[in-house]
Order: sequence, then C-alpha cells, then structure tokens
Amino acid sequence: MNYIQICKNCGSDQVARLEWVNVNSGEPFSGDPGVYTEWCFGCEDQTKIVEEIDRGMNKYKC
Ligand SMILES: [Zn+2]
Repeated sequence: MNYIQICKNCGSDQVARLEWVNVNSGEPFSGDPGVYTEWCFGCEDQTKIVEEIDRGMNKYKC
C-alpha cells in the first residue's frame, strides 16, 4: 500500500514543507523540531499536510 501526503484543506498533493536545516552542514536536522511550515500550492496558503492512501488516481488534484 502506497501513501501520499496531501493538503488537509483541499486534498491536493501539490504540497511542500519547510524544514529546519543545519546551516553548517547543510543537512536537515533529524527529529521533529515541532515548528515548520506546510504549504499548499492549490490553496496558495499555509495548510496541514495529512497522509492518505494513494489510490492511483488524480482525484486529489485541485
Ligand atoms: Zn490545499
């Protein structure tokens, strides 16, 4: 079973997440800093990304 991450608001899979990167190593910090921004390109706004089962269709496209 495959999972995709989608926008909680509109169901689009066109979502992105800003994450914390160590500026000295360029590597993302492992572990959850608890503060990050999730963005939906469908809503063009901040959103919450949720995990859904990928049913192999494009029904989640905006
Ligand atoms: Zn959205």
